[in-house]
Amino acid sequence: MDRRQLLTKGLIASIGFAASSLIGCTLISASKEKGKAWGYIGDKGPDNWGNLSEDFYACQSGTSQSPVNLESAVDADLPELKISYQNAPLRIINNGHTIQVNYRPGSILTLDDEVYELLQFHFHNPSEHQVEGKALPMELHLVHKSKKGSLAVVGIFLKEGQENPTLQKIWSEIPMHKSNEKTISNININASDLLPKDKDYYRYFGSLTTPPCSETVNWIVLKQPVGISIQQLQKFAKVFPMNARPVQQIERRFLLE
Ligand SMILES: [Zn+2]
Repeated sequence: MDRRQLLTKGLIASIGFAASSLIGCTLISASKEKGKAWGYIGDKGPDNWGNLSEDFYACQSGTSQSPVNLESAVDADLPELKISYQNAPLRIINNGHTIQVNYRPGSILTLDDEVYELLQFHFHNPSEHQVEGKALPMELHLVHKSKKGSLAVVGIFLKEGQENPTLQKIWSEIPMHKSNEKTISNININASDLLPKDKDYYRYFGSLTTPPCSETVNWIVLKQPVGISIQQLQKFAKVFPMNARPVQQIERRFLLE
């Protein structure tokens, strides 16, 4: 093992340690978070999240917050992403903050020899992560959780291109207003159809990008964007004109690529 591999291993180990030591707090604050109104503009917007509830303290005072601007990454020997997603019937919800697709058990991401199960994916308009100071039109977040309770989120940028057939199946069922989950059993989706061809990625340790902003997330952000048509972007924007948290300081963290 050369010096660079050794450095990568060390950085990944410290990312994992930070994640596991914080899991307990997230679960507690996540359960208390219910019912506290927050949003993306005005008094309930991101600048005020930390004041809306004591459970949202990390939003204001955390030191490993997400999203971040992706630049000045450390070149590291990151392993190939190990993803195995199954087909699933479409279960969709407008939860008032985003459009979310809930996934049945059995689809996994393996990271640092730990298995994370895909729970759900959802969308942000515009992108939350930025590339060299610029946001892309949208970002998809695939949220995974391990048996130990740690989180791994895969972020995928969406940018203007051809109509995306997988998104089209989802878009045809978007609830325009906040609603309960609905299952459309005759529409099957596979989250792997939403991944770009090239799986090069950035990696860093951060937080949920929504209250309570818990610092428990292993972030994987893929470099290659996936295409979405202007009509599809417009349809999402009708429901959520803006649901992205501004970028946060990277502070003392390492961004690996
Ligand atoms: Zn998200």
